[in-house]
Amino acid sequence: MPEELFPGLYCIRVPLPKSPLKYLNSYVVKGDDRTLVVDTGFNHRDCLEVMQAGLAELNIDPYRTDYFITHLHADHFGLVHRLASKTSRIYFNRPDSELIESWEGFGPMIAYAGRNGFPEDELRSALENHPGHKHGSEWVPKLNIINDGDIFRIGPYRFACILTPGHSTGHMCLFDSSHKILIAGDHLLIDITPNIQCWSDDQNPLGQYLASLERVRELDVAHVLPGHRRRFSDHRRRIDELLQHHEDRLAETLAILRSGSKNAYDVASQMKWDIRSDSWAECPVTQRWFATGEVISHLRLLEEQGRIVRRRGSNPTTFYLSNP
Ligand SMILES: [Zn+2]
Repeated sequence: MPEELFPGLYCIRVPLPKSPLKYLNSYVVKGDDRTLVVDTGFNHRDCLEVMQAGLAELNIDPYRTDYFITHLHADHFGLVHRLASKTSRIYFNRPDSELIESWEGFGPMIAYAGRNGFPEDELRSALENHPGHKHGSEWVPKLNIINDGDIFRIGPYRFACILTPGHSTGHMCLFDSSHKILIAGDHLLIDITPNIQCWSDDQNPLGQYLASLERVRELDVAHVLPGHRRRFSDHRRRIDELLQHHEDRLAETLAILRSGSKNAYDVASQMKWDIRSDSWAECPVTQRWFATGEVISHLRLLEEQGRIVRRRGSNPTTFYLSNP
């Protein structure tokens, strides 16, 4: 049941059925007049039950409760339309809301994966059963768009919105500078590395993510409240680890391309992954898809830096080293 982390600031651990993330941390900030709930869980009965029970135990009036959703992924956004009352406001960033509005199903994403060497048919059938697909919201409620630097005052807290694109295009954290609390969403996680995937050639999410890490590194944080797993304190140390992880991955990508030009799927198949399967071919399709999305984000950054080049007219798209 809800755990009080700081005066009037609680955490509800929301189970995520069939997700390797296991739990979502929903944070509840109780004010004198209104309450703010940060992130909600999947649109799934198990999540709904835990959230409703947790909010009831905290004596929270649904008609005086607002929601802040850090980013569009279903484990954060999926349940909000079922929790929000008629008088609730749902605060959300613009880039992710535009993605939701322009969403035309998985088709474009599957085609893009195919252009990057991924077996399209395998992906199409797997995505129909993906929890993010099954447990997203059925309809999108009215969203109150918020911008970088906007402030929420609730009880003793004064949370500023910090735009941290990378894990999603419009990902936002909340930062209270006097209590040194960072509600981090999926921007900073410990024990697991936030997924940075690229599903469009006009984006450079890893470039954005590394810049967001540098930005958050400057903040004076004592308590990181992440979207999953445990809380931690030394955010600069964690950020340095994440920067190093991506530095290593970029070097590994270049090393793999040293033996000749390759598409993203082939690069992913040759990378070292922290997975249980014996071989890449035995690895479940969704894991290979996530891995390929990660590799594309590394390739896109290397391309932006001029360290690799895409072979013109190639399909699947192949990349080669600028200076072999
Ligand atoms: Zn996420």
